[in-house]
Amino acid sequence: MSYDKVEVPSEGEKITLADEETGKLDVPEQPIIPIIHGDGIGTDVGPAAQKVLEAAAEATGRSISWMRVYAGASARDEYGENLPDDTVDAIREFRVAIKGPLTTPVGAGFRSLNVALRQKLDLYANVRPTYHIDGVPSPVKNPEAMDMVFFRENTEDVYAGIEWEAGTGEVEEVKEFLAGEMGVGDKLHDGPIGIGVKPITEFGTKRLVRQAIEYALENDRDSVTLVHKGNIMKFTEGAFRDWGYELAEEEYGDVTITEDALWDEYDGEQPADKLVVKDRIADNMLQQLLTRTGQYDVIATMNLNGDYMSDAAGAQIGGLGIAPGANFGDGRCLAEPVHGSAPKYAGEDKVNPTAMILSGRIMLEYLGWKDAATLVRDAVEETIASKEVTYDLHRQIDGGEKLATSEFADKIVENVEKLA
Ligand code: NAP
Repeated sequence: MSYDKVEVPSEGEKITLADEETGKLDVPEQPIIPIIHGDGIGTDVGPAAQKVLEAAAEATGRSISWMRVYAGASARDEYGENLPDDTVDAIREFRVAIKGPLTTPVGAGFRSLNVALRQKLDLYANVRPTYHIDGVPSPVKNPEAMDMVFFRENTEDVYAGIEWEAGTGEVEEVKEFLAGEMGVGDKLHDGPIGIGVKPITEFGTKRLVRQAIEYALENDRDSVTLVHKGNIMKFTEGAFRDWGYELAEEEYGDVTITEDALWDEYDGEQPADKLVVKDRIADNMLQQLLTRTGQYDVIATMNLNGDYMSDAAGAQIGGLGIAPGANFGDGRCLAEPVHGSAPKYAGEDKVNPTAMILSGRIMLEYLGWKDAATLVRDAVEETIASKEVTYDLHRQIDGGEKLATSEFADKIVENVEKLA
């Protein structure tokens, strides 16, 4: 592959696919990893994450060969466009990458670059591990009970972008089809109307639920909960539930049991070698996040439910500055923090880089570098526990010392080296 304006590092090797079917990777000791620092505070949190991840790789006998690629404002400077082919091609070729936030100006005439990247690379699962870090202020009484990993489907649902604007010829055509051909005219009020379509496919559902189950098995989790509103939207969200259970039975029948079987056959005592697959209705699940937090583990859900639910859960553990994420495809991972580019703080060396650093931790896990990933997690926890923190945490805790982004990252690096 040749690149127009970016250099492939001369040192390091490419991560390759070891097994087409499972998406398992062959990861060298010095992989080449593309990185997009991102817009706004991306210029602060990007370099901070880079140095922590490098330290963790080195402390576990490896190294990372970074390949800087561009999207958003930095790409407009370099290439005159928001999302150059170089960037998409590099992530496609090198398989595992990390990015900071990208700005999507309201009404600026281009779609979200984040959405575009996920679509172009078919990164169909948005993954958000959500757990509380000791010392982080939270609005709930027992934030430590939260330890969930959300798998949100990224390509379907009302987010698929199949919609027509009120007043256009297209929407009138769709309305006519619905009223005439499909006989549902009595459900559509007169006057201007906007119409969107909610596609949920067996293919999209099964590959998402497969990722969630694989993750749960690999990380010794107790359950996967399918969250849906199938009582109302029977043929979309109800189908998601049914296809999810079907996949669990067809492909993981020997290692999974349903909640009914847990009670009927095991008296509620979960056997160590079985993963429970259960389901919950979305509105109930939003309550249970708060009231029965400890009973849930890995969550698999569709795009819109996942959007609401993962943000609500994120708030329970202390909010945006610390919430990490990643997007998984088949044998591909693009890690990214949940937060945006917070333009008002851009370049001030002020914001919290934890979300970007912990997104890097997910990336290390994806590489199979569990020791390095654990080191990052522990070093972040140790640093926050010492109350030497960035402004966002400092303003919510008693005492402690306020650090700049770069100083906070240096403390984490010190702790990585100390804990190694
Ligand atoms: P935002 O950038 O996430 O910022 C909202 C607020 O969250 C900030 O003002 C700040 O709160 C807090 N915050 C965010 N990141 C933080 C960090 N690292 N450390 C400490 N506090 C942090 O949301 P937004 O202002 O709605 O969006 C700005 C731009 O980002 C938009 O263009 C949006 O489209 C884009 N965006 C991108 C992504 C992505 O790239 N994945 C995701 C979401 C949004 P205080 O002011 O209270 O300190």
